[in-house]
Amino acid sequence: MKEENDSAFLKFIGTAGARFVVMKQLRSSGGVWLSSEGTNLYMDPGPGALVRCLNSKPKMDPSTLDGILLTHKHLDHSSDINVMIEAMTEGGFKKRGVLFAPEDALEKDPVVFHYVRSYLEKIEILRENSRYQVGRISFSTGPRHRHGVETYGINFRMAPHTVSFITDTRFFPELPNLYQGEVLVIHVVRLKPIGDDPVDHLSVEDVKAIVKKARPKLTVLTHFGMTMIRAKPWEVAAELEKELGVKVIAASDGMKLDLKEV
Ligand SMILES: [Zn+2]
Repeated sequence: MKEENDSAFLKFIGTAGARFVVMKQLRSSGGVWLSSEGTNLYMDPGPGALVRCLNSKPKMDPSTLDGILLTHKHLDHSSDINVMIEAMTEGGFKKRGVLFAPEDALEKDPVVFHYVRSYLEKIEILRENSRYQVGRISFSTGPRHRHGVETYGINFRMAPHTVSFITDTRFFPELPNLYQGEVLVIHVVRLKPIGDDPVDHLSVEDVKAIVKKARPKLTVLTHFGMTMIRAKPWEVAAELEKELGVKVIAASDGMKLDLKEV
């Protein structure tokens, strides 16, 4: 697809989080397409990413991607990583694009096949508190998240906009200070906290604690688990907005967020 060059947007290809919503496809899974001034970056290509891109209106063509960013290797974020690399590189015939991924997605029990790695122009290993750049999009990682595998949250600079993603993690007190984008996207899997959550995810209570401190211009909830889907994410967002006095929306599959309009 052709976007005019001064545009910056996020397109939520999928908004499912955690196993059951993904397995039953109650929401699409697949991640987020970020675009800034003609640079295209795909984040977390989970199950269905390629199909959802090609079926979206207008069509999102993976051969226009400049990079793919994997925040962690769990299946709901990574299952389409190899096919998206193939699509970005036109079947491997065009050596192009950058892959950003944590070391444990590439080293032990890797999710990226070795044969597709040679299609890429570059592989950059994500490390804590580090800066990266692809075309017109620059970003930095926070410290390692509290999640089963090596996981990072991201602060994007898509000039003049800033967008932060609090990806999968258990809550920890520094979280609100680490992600200060004017748009704050939060992966909120659970409606209510579970005392000893074995999967390490955020709940709506955690979102409140984060947003109260971070006070972003816009909060976007996504990556919903079963309890969030049942509670209707748009209603949860409306209640949060009322309670916190800041703008909160729930992402929906295919939603395009134009950063100029935030
Ligand atoms: Zn996840």
